[in-house]
Amino acid sequence: MRYDGAAFTEGEKLFMNSRGPEDAIFYVNDPADLSWDVEADVLVIGAGGCGLVSALAAAQKGAQVFVLEKEKTAGGNTSLSQAMVPAAGTRFQKQAGMEDSAELMTQDILHKNSHGSDPDLTLHVARESSKLVEWLNDSMGISLGLVTDFLYPGHSRYRIHSNRTRKGEHFVNDLLKAAARYENIDIAYNAPARRLIADPKDGAVLGAEVEIEGVGKNLAKAKKVILALNGFGANREMLARYIPEMKDAYYFGHEGNTGEGILWGEALGAALDCMAAYQAHGSVTHPHGTLLTYATVSMGGYHLNLEGKRFVNEYHGYSEHALDVLAQKEGVAVAVFDDRIYRTVQDYEDFQQCIRMGAIRKFDAIQDLAASFRLPVEEAAATHEAFCRSARGEGKDRFGRTDFGKPLAPPFYGAKVTGALFHTQGGLRVNKRAQVIREDGAAIPDLFAGGGTAAGFSGKAGPGGYLSANGLLAALVMGKIAGEEAASAALEEVG
Ligand SMILES: Cc1cc2nc3c(=O)[nH]c(=O)nc-3n(C[C@H](O)[C@H](O)[C@H](O)COP(=O)(O)OP(=O)(O)OC[C@H]3O[C@@H](n4cnc5c(N)ncnc54)[C@H](O)[C@@H]3O)c2cc1C
Repeated sequence: MRYDGAAFTEGEKLFMNSRGPEDAIFYVNDPADLSWDVEADVLVIGAGGCGLVSALAAAQKGAQVFVLEKEKTAGGNTSLSQAMVPAAGTRFQKQAGMEDSAELMTQDILHKNSHGSDPDLTLHVARESSKLVEWLNDSMGISLGLVTDFLYPGHSRYRIHSNRTRKGEHFVNDLLKAAARYENIDIAYNAPARRLIADPKDGAVLGAEVEIEGVGKNLAKAKKVILALNGFGANREMLARYIPEMKDAYYFGHEGNTGEGILWGEALGAALDCMAAYQAHGSVTHPHGTLLTYATVSMGGYHLNLEGKRFVNEYHGYSEHALDVLAQKEGVAVAVFDDRIYRTVQDYEDFQQCIRMGAIRKFDAIQDLAASFRLPVEEAAATHEAFCRSARGEGKDRFGRTDFGKPLAPPFYGAKVTGALFHTQGGLRVNKRAQVIREDGAAIPDLFAGGGTAAGFSGKAGPGGYLSANGLLAALVMGKIAGEEAASAALEEVG
């Protein structure tokens, strides 16, 4: 039963199909009727970037925080990321002489997503972004500096901040170290939340039912619950429903992201937004399944299809480029770049993995590259010549590409790539306080969300609205807001 007594939604049916006969929500008239196993001020579901940041923010305010993580380790997609966090107006930008503002950042996000996110919420998040980065540095001891070696497409300023290694895994370790300094944060691993517990009268969230291996189900009671479970990239049924073009694509994200947080929220009457939006990538090696950095394109490389032809302006964005690659014969392309690019990116961890796995091949001539990947040699050589002419400024590129870096020179490198899904960008509608809201704007009592569980800033549909680093923007900034808001509200109740 839904709290309002209405028939099951399609989302709830999806939940029941994938989880067995249970409802998404366990309704209880009187919380005193239940035998609760554990109690906290703030219950955070999911220990990725959003969950850990919200836990830290809530703990700093003095709340007792309990974090549930489905997997045996924390991190989720945040661990897989390059820890690239966008923020406008930070002191790191000022020190580098970079003038930026929340307004400009908002403009960049809205331009990329074709005004497909709430402008007020987008501006709010952009304004909070510098506070997040400075708070991580100053209060949490997590060093994030300004990235100035390349400008991410779509950002009109250098505003990406990252850790020294640019590894999400290291960033998550730093978040865990910071959490360990708080006595009022407990994290449970191998502890998937199975459903929310709520009051049937108004849908107020009371806690969650947690599966504990070898024990069964435990009941966790909380004054406030934060949903930080990311989206539904690992749920093929939800993909088939909301993003059918990606349902069979290779999924490059974390397997724990199966979408139940969105289905729980929906069952409680939350509005859903941007469910068809997602981030993809057109440079995942095939069949190796490692990420060939987009810098192989942005620094001057290009892609050939199996007919030896270019098929699009590869520079238009790595997310939307995934669909272009998938539309080619066998859903693959061959990335072509040269020694200058190779040497620049060879220390990137992802690229190293491609090298170690043998995904990258080296050639003295473009004809050898074409033959090795079984492309028509003459066609590929002609395509290469035409591309190099455009790169040298000798005539217009037939696909309208204007950014080439330096013209390519032998030796060349080639890697077969495909388009892959990274993460979904649609989810529960939230307000500026990260409260989950219904269609009429009313907040579902005691429920907060951020990161991939909430609707993102990447447009209504498709891969094209994703501005680089929108993912961690939503996860970390909204996570901090959710943690602070949930803690303040919980502690107010205590009086
Ligand atoms: C390869 C890759 C690179 C990326 N690089 C960047 C980047 O550099 N910058 C950027 O901005 N974005 C990047 N992104 C996107 C970014 O990683 C995500 O948008 C962001 O990490 C989402 O954070 P989150 O906290 O919402 O989810 P996650 O970090 O995925 O955390 C969700 C957690 O919830 C857990 N969980 C799920 N269900 C349950 C349950 N029922 N009970 C308990 N726990 C549960 C999961 O196991 C997981 O640990 C990248 C994504 C990928 C795949």
